[in-house]
Amino acid sequence: MSDKSFNAFKMAQHQFDEVAEQLGLDQGTKELLRTPSREYHFTIPIRMDDGSYKVFQGFRVQHNDARGPGKGGIRFHPQETIDTVRALATWMTWKCAVVDIPLGGGKGGVICDPHNLSMREQELICRGWVRQIVRNVGPLQDVPAPDVMTNAQHMLWMMDEYEKIMGGKFPGFITGKPVGSGGSLGRTEATGYGAVYTLREALKEHKVDTKSTTASFQGFGNVSQYAIELYHQYGGKTICVSSWDQEDQTSYSFVKEDGIDLEELRGITNKFGGIDKDKAKELGYSVLSGDKWIAQDVDILFPSALENQVNAETIKAIKPRVKFVVEGANGPTTPEADKFFFEKGIFVVPDFLANAGGVTVSYFEQVQCNMNYFWEKEEVLTKLDQKMTSAFHAVYNLAKKKNIFMRDAAYMIAISRVAEASKLRGWV
Ligand code: GLU
Repeated sequence: MSDKSFNAFKMAQHQFDEVAEQLGLDQGTKELLRTPSREYHFTIPIRMDDGSYKVFQGFRVQHNDARGPGKGGIRFHPQETIDTVRALATWMTWKCAVVDIPLGGGKGGVICDPHNLSMREQELICRGWVRQIVRNVGPLQDVPAPDVMTNAQHMLWMMDEYEKIMGGKFPGFITGKPVGSGGSLGRTEATGYGAVYTLREALKEHKVDTKSTTASFQGFGNVSQYAIELYHQYGGKTICVSSWDQEDQTSYSFVKEDGIDLEELRGITNKFGGIDKDKAKELGYSVLSGDKWIAQDVDILFPSALENQVNAETIKAIKPRVKFVVEGANGPTTPEADKFFFEKGIFVVPDFLANAGGVTVSYFEQVQCNMNYFWEKEEVLTKLDQKMTSAFHAVYNLAKKKNIFMRDAAYMIAISRVAEASKLRGWV
């Protein structure tokens, strides 16, 4: 989001157009699916702690709900734009379709920086967001969830506001809630673990032993932390993680050649995934300024921060040893970088497949809320593994059969499912 010329929605449309052409979609379906069906822009006025008033800008975009209610997170970010939300809503449609869960695509956002907001101010933003959109979201319409810089606490405030307005209990209104308040065990781990299930399958297909591999991660938020946890359980070694430094407004990469210690780093990390530089140095990490995570001599790159991080510029630093890229973030890789990966034979697990674990367990959370019966963590993670593994192999087999890039194969499966549902409903 730092590069002003980058437009995530243009990128999402470009990716769609290419595959729509290859699939030979008719003109009506193409037009329908390249644009969100509905979008809402609204203001959220807040009385700040110092007594002043501030008006925040909020969004919700519903891309397509042919296969089920809209689904997708709400981001709090100072550089949020409507086009970013449009892109993310579109990717949610493909994400739910590729793992074959009965949900559509939506995304929301508020332009704000939680680093500079008290918990009370954040609570008011959450409640204000719900009040402004209450008629257009809900368990049967569009179901929000956490995303960048929002978490279970934000979800619970939002649910509470929704229930107060509606006058009843509606745990299916939102997912990613705290365990014990309608949340599912395993939801926190889901996105990171899900990505590593797909990596495990990719390595198996290429006959690579996880224990012989090393990785570098961009970002140290929820996705990275749990991806690293499972990757280490499988025997992998992480050489580098990067993290955003709020004070310096830049990111730093933390390198340890003999492998990072996850728990040690977690102990010196704030709730936004920001690692304390001085403490890291004391613990023996080399702290490099800028995006050195991508320049590491490793087998696997794991971009798990924001969009547009792997682009024509940054790929120049990629070392020949890199053979796998697993996209924990949404939209991290631009089409120019995709071309480079394709030419170099680097295997990519594309974002809306790799990071679909979060929404998959959100779906399980809804199922459990509807039954009012909550599963053990083991059961949640086993079901997640099954979903991710079968989605991975469907995409992998198609990519192999047609000799195409994994991203295109994932798009083909997802777009075909959504196109068919839209057609059967008589929309196009
Ligand atoms: N925000 C997450 C994503 O981008 C999760 C969405 C959800 O659980 O609905 O996939």
